[in-house]
Amino acid sequence: LIQLYIPLNMLGFVYREIKQAVIDMEAMFEVMDVEEEVQDRPGARPLAITGGEVRFENVEFRYDARRGILKNVSFTVAPGSTIAVVGPSGAGKSTISRILFRFYDIEAGSVTIDGQDIRDVTQATLRKAIGIVPQDTVLFNDTIRYNIRYGRPGASDAEVEEAARLARIHDFIVSLPDGYDSMVGERGLKLSGGEKQRVAIARTILKNPPILLLDEATSALDTQTEKEIQASLKEIARGRTALIIAHRLSTVVDADQILVLDKGQIVERGTHDDLLELGGQYALMWQRQLEAVEAEAKLAEVRAEG
Ligand code: ATP
Repeated sequence: LIQLYIPLNMLGFVYREIKQAVIDMEAMFEVMDVEEEVQDRPGARPLAITGGEVRFENVEFRYDARRGILKNVSFTVAPGSTIAVVGPSGAGKSTISRILFRFYDIEAGSVTIDGQDIRDVTQATLRKAIGIVPQDTVLFNDTIRYNIRYGRPGASDAEVEEAARLARIHDFIVSLPDGYDSMVGERGLKLSGGEKQRVAIARTILKNPPILLLDEATSALDTQTEKEIQASLKEIARGRTALIIAHRLSTVVDADQILVLDKGQIVERGTHDDLLELGGQYALMWQRQLEAVEAEAKLAEVRAEG
């Protein structure tokens, strides 16, 4: 019994780990023939996108019975607008995106897209409507062209390159000895975090989903890379509904609405200016980040002089 139990348990563990990482989820389900925990309801209908409004209403969620994670979370992302979610580590930011993708069902409340409860629509159409740019993109052991085309397998070479241009990764690709035919992934060229994220952005541009979920990398990026990623993020967010788990000052400033999440609750909400004026948790976070940026700049100056 013990022998049987361990591998089964391991599978559960592996599955949870995968979900946790929110890495290339669609691919994972195809590659690993695992049963998804959340099932389509009998009679589930295809999601019909009209504008792409995302609404959370009084959402309650827990991973396990003993600890509530999201408490009474309500917000609306108007079609085509951008919402940024900020807050301390463990506040529940990524949980919001996992719920929107319906990796888990909520305990109370509702999550709707254009008025349709996501529990009433097929998962296939829900996931087709949402493009995800995760923090850490997993690349296939194949060419960089293949990795970008994965967003829309029927795309032409010209379309792949156009997406790469918009994602600010084209110039980098053509500078490689094998260009678009360069092998990447574990057994190929290792790309940096920023480069991988731009590949994910190019993929998502090809996929062309009405709704975007972006999980910004927490890792430090050099100023140039950060600028390029910001530019490519702006490019894909244009005209789409976007929910961004934000770690960068520039992303937050540009968002139409900011939610400050703390211990699973929305404690402040508004635009950047609203929240600075409020002088609460967001204003404090902002001040700290500014100080960190200034300190870094000073350090760079000293290094340059020395
Ligand atoms: P960070 O900024 O560090 O990524 P976050 O705000 O995105 O944090 P979440 O990943 O949403 O936080 O996690 C919220 C809480 O839920 C954390 O306390 C975490 O430990 C817990 N949690 C996350 N995933 C699971 C899981 N699969 N099972 C049990 N608890 C979980």
